[in-house]
Amino acid sequence: MHSTTSLSTDMALDNDRQCILLVEDDDFQRQILVSQLSAEDIDILEASNGQEALELVERFSHRIILILCDLDMPVMDGMEFARHIGSLDLSLNLALLSASDSSMLSSVDTMCRAYGVKTLGTFEKPLAMDRANALLELALEAASPKCFLRGKASLGFSENEIVSGLTKGEIQPFFQAKYDLETNQIVGAEALCRWMHPTHGIQSPLAFVPVLEQGQHIDTLTFSMLRQATQYQKQWSVRGEELSIAINLSTVSLKDSSFADKLFDVVAESGIPPDKIVFEVTETAAMQDIAPALENLARLRIRGFGLSIDDFGTGFASMEQLGRIAFTELKIDRGFVSTMLARKESQAIVEASISMARTLGLRSVAEGVESADEMAMLRELGCDHVQGYLIGKPVDADTFFDSLRG
Ligand code: C2E
Ligand code: CA
Ligand code: CA
Repeated sequence: MHSTTSLSTDMALDNDRQCILLVEDDDFQRQILVSQLSAEDIDILEASNGQEALELVERFSHRIILILCDLDMPVMDGMEFARHIGSLDLSLNLALLSASDSSMLSSVDTMCRAYGVKTLGTFEKPLAMDRANALLELALEAASPKCFLRGKASLGFSENEIVSGLTKGEIQPFFQAKYDLETNQIVGAEALCRWMHPTHGIQSPLAFVPVLEQGQHIDTLTFSMLRQATQYQKQWSVRGEELSIAINLSTVSLKDSSFADKLFDVVAESGIPPDKIVFEVTETAAMQDIAPALENLARLRIRGFGLSIDDFGTGFASMEQLGRIAFTELKIDRGFVSTMLARKESQAIVEASISMARTLGLRSVAEGVESADEMAMLRELGCDHVQGYLIGKPVDADTFFDSLRG
């Protein structure tokens, strides 16, 4: 059998640990998924096509809590694999992965359900770290008998509820420090949105950003975040702290070729110089609808804003993108940073990303730094900035400012 399980067969047969089955023909992308989904107490089984995956399902179905399957594979593709899974009647959780656009993914999702397969949803490749985490959580929840008692991942806010929250000013920026490893100083902060929900408590962006992205109002959130963040930036500057602020942009916004100008207008109103603002764009962003995305990104650079590639390493066109767009910063995905001490593959990706950034004259930023050992290694590798719980968690504006002074 050709399947490359990450476990030795004996070990795999011996225990009752839960596992995730990854079905992906591309070795590199499979490695990335392995590092993204690595978690304590979960084993990962790997297959490079549907045939191999079915053999693993036969042996380990009682332990599999999630099958993550690429659609486009040789020998047996994802659609055929899903059909077989449906006929086995094992009630396995399947999540589909593809580089194709989301409309195509959703029709395959419908097909799966018609074949009686439980799907946890469809995901565009590359899988962002936060989506990977959400998926892991969903799988664990689905595998737990108490799953329906916990509503956390499924509050399911509607677009109207979210927009109403936005209008009422309930969605606010939290700030997470960016720390310069050379000067040992906090040089900026990333603004991360939080919904201070009056009855459900603080909601993470995962609970509402995807809904806004699928609807019509993601720009309303972006402009609101930019407006609020620049106001704080101005207050802090008056009080003697000159910080650069990073704002996350959604892929979908870049389809509108007038988007960059609208951002510029908001910043111009605030009086903050553009070089004190960095826009973070995930690697996938510039890949879809490439022409307007490039126009927007180029215009932002020309206006003097910083441009950061977020989640670097999770994409598969990294080099190509770097060549095309004048980025100023490269953010190494948390998935690699948090596993680099344990996995040689992750360390290699972190190392290569830092040296690529240096060659191209970009600033390298490692996100998700949680331990002093990780920070020491990043320092040794020549990483410029770090961000993560070790330096500080995302906190509200006042707490953030106080922590600068404290
Ligand atoms: P991101 O841009 O990759 O942001 C980093 C995420 O990692 C944040 O999650 C942050 O809280 C978390 N994080 C930072 N350091 C650590 C660490 O040391 N350990 C761990 N375990 N996690 C760490 P958060 O705030 O939940 O945001 C999730 C995602 O939501 C962000 O991922 C970003 O893609 C999106 N997002 C956040 N704010 C906005 C926004 O205003 N607009 C848009 N379009 N997306 C946003
Ligand atoms: Ca970000
Ligand atoms: Ca990221």
